[in-house]
Formats: sequence, structure tokens, C-alpha cells
Amino acid sequence: MTAKIIDGTAIAGEVRANVAKDVAARVDKGLPVPGLATVLVGENPASQVYVRMKQKACEKAGIKSFGYNLPADISQAELETLVSELNANPEINGILVQLPLPKGLDEERVLNSISLEKDVDGFHPVNIGRLAQKGRKSLFVPCTPDGVIYLLDQTGVQLQGASAVVLGRSNIVGMPVALLLVERDATVTICHSRTKNLAEVCRSADVLVAAVGRPEMVRRDWVKPGAVVIDVGVNRVEDASLEKGYKLVGDVAFDEVKDVASAITPVPGGVGPMTIAMLLRNTVKAADIADRN
Ligand code: NDP
Repeated sequence: MTAKIIDGTAIAGEVRANVAKDVAARVDKGLPVPGLATVLVGENPASQVYVRMKQKACEKAGIKSFGYNLPADISQAELETLVSELNANPEINGILVQLPLPKGLDEERVLNSISLEKDVDGFHPVNIGRLAQKGRKSLFVPCTPDGVIYLLDQTGVQLQGASAVVLGRSNIVGMPVALLLVERDATVTICHSRTKNLAEVCRSADVLVAAVGRPEMVRRDWVKPGAVVIDVGVNRVEDASLEKGYKLVGDVAFDEVKDVASAITPVPGGVGPMTIAMLLRNTVKAADIADRN
């Protein structure tokens, strides 16, 4: 079997084009242009790149972006004061605090200080808590996990009753992906660094989501023939043949697994592009919520 390659770049492109249309439709109706505030603390190079990408994507979609670059030694109180100001600013519909924060800052308190209606990253403890409760709806779902489910839906994967295995239990990917799969009536197993017989557990999955941050850990014999494999991992591995000296690979050995899976996301070009697309969508949703308040 050769797997269908799930084209995250194309699917994210469609989402972004729809967001741009929604923004234009708002402007036509005389509604305010949606605004996203990005808060970057310190000088983590990867975070700087992510924030720039998010700001550029906003511009392309017609969303206003407001950048706040703060020194790594900012105090907890100063950071929370900025978030309060952004909460009160009607031009700003979404607030994104780029994680991880530098050591010494209390991430949970900062996330908790973001207004629920502006929590476009979906990491506010109340939004996450609602995700974990049956019958409750969070206002916003974290963007990467939301993108994973969107890709599965676009691929026509039946989640109800499916056996799903999520590799990884982080707050930003593994756990919310697992909660979303449960919400969609899949039967979910969550694996982590203490899981025994990992390969065997993975082999039981109809849908396997890998989010561990270990290059090409999932091998061909970890995957049930016909399973759908979503690879969230983004890992740099050395490659002297390339000018930049490295290449990006996922948590799944793509070349092996594509011969057993029925569908698989590549890295890059799979889940990665979905994160920003879902962030833009959430920002327009936040603007729609603001119109009603
Ligand atoms: P974390 O390091 O926060 O979490 C990794 C998880 O994997 C943990 O739950 C850990 O277990 C588990 N784990 C680690 N090693 C093993 C192992 N050998 N066997 C079994 N489980 C293991 O990572 P993130 O969730 O933040 O990210 C995961 C991957 O996804 C990374 O490659 C990251 O770059 C990528 N990513 C991609 C995004 C995108 O495409 N937009 C966005 C965010 C992340 P334990 O809990 O026991 O420590």
C-alpha cells in the first residue's frame, strides 16, 4: 500500500484564503478589521521566527497585527499589566503570548490573565478545562491540535469509534489532541516516556498521532496496515549534504511508514502550516465574538 500524502500546505492555504475572504466580508459590512497582538518575551531565535511568521500571515489575510517585544528580564507584574491593557484594547481581538516564556515567569498566571474571549491560542486554563469536560465547549481550541483534527476531517477519516493513539502528552500538543479525539468519539490511548510496549500500543491504532520530538521514532512495524498517521514532530537532524547543514524530519520514519499507512502527513508540509492557519481563523472568530458583546 502507498499512503495518500496529506497536503497540509494546500489545506492550510485554503483555510487562509477563507480567512482572508471572511476579513474582507467584515470590512464590506463596516465591521472593524480583526486585530492580533503578539507578545514575545526575550530573544529565543525560534520564537522570533514563529512570531514573524504569524505577523506576516496576519498581514496577508488582512488582519492587523500588533507586535510587543519585551526584554527577558521583564517582571511578572509588568507582563500581566501589558496583557490587561491588551484585554481592554478594542482594536485587539486576539492575544498570543509566544511560549515558552523565559525562566522566572509564571506561564500559567500569564495565560490565566488573558481574557477568555481573546484567548486565540486556546491555552487559557478555563478553555483547556472545558475541553476536558463532557458536554462543555471551549471558546478556542489550541491551534496545532485543531489543525490535526482539521487534517483528519479533510482526509475523510472516520473518528467515531476509531482506535486512536496519541504519542506525547504535552499541554500544547499531545493532551489537547487526545481530548479533541475523545470529543469526536474516538477511543484514545495516550502514550508518554513511561509507556511500556510502545510499538505494540501504536500498532493497535487506526489513527496514530505522533508528537514526541524524537526524530523518526515511529518505524514501519509500529504502524497497523491501513492506519492514518499524523506526524506533528519537527526535528532538526544534521545533513552535511545540504548548505544549511541540517534537514527537518518528523517523529515518524516517513519513507518506511508511507508504505503501510493509508494516509500520512509529511514533514515539512503536513501539520506545520496548519498552526498559523488555525490561529488566523481563531482571530476572526474572536472578532465575531467581540461584535456580539
Ligand atoms: P514536549 O517535549 O513538550 O512533549 C513530548 C512528549 O513526548 C512528552 O509527553 C514525553 O513524555 C513524550 N516522549 C518523549 N520521548 C518519548 C519517548 N522516547 N517515548 C515515548 N514518549 C516520549 O513536546 P511538544 O509536545 O511541545 O512537541 C512535540 C513535537 O511536536 C516536537 O517535535 C515539536 O517541535 C513539534 N511541534 C510542532 C508544532 C507544529 O507543527 N506547528 C507545534 C508544536 C510542537 P513525558 O510526558 O513522559 O515526558
